[in-house]
Amino acid sequence: MSSKKRSARTRQREVFLAGLYGADMGDMDDVFTHEERRRDRMDERREAALRHKACASKRRYGSRMQAESAITACAEHGTTGLRCYRCTYCHGWHLTSHGPVNIP
Ligand SMILES: [Zn+2]
Repeated sequence: MSSKKRSARTRQREVFLAGLYGADMGDMDDVFTHEERRRDRMDERREAALRHKACASKRRYGSRMQAESAITACAEHGTTGLRCYRCTYCHGWHLTSHGPVNIP
């Protein structure tokens, strides 16, 4: 049992070391390109998360008036502190309870 565990740990260590030293450090261009691509992928993911949070996960209103009347309705039901903003993704209007929003 314990020998099985040990070999799994050894394998993990080998994978870890290969990650550290296995990369071809002689060709830094490749390293930078790789890093750039990795960053692009992260930006895409962050962008998608932002979009989801700011747009896709929210109710969309077709106009500022509709959004503001929704805010009024929410206030009547006890939810205050809402504001609306023009969405840069779908160009509709969304509500938020979070701090100041940059309205373009
Ligand atoms: Zn939107």
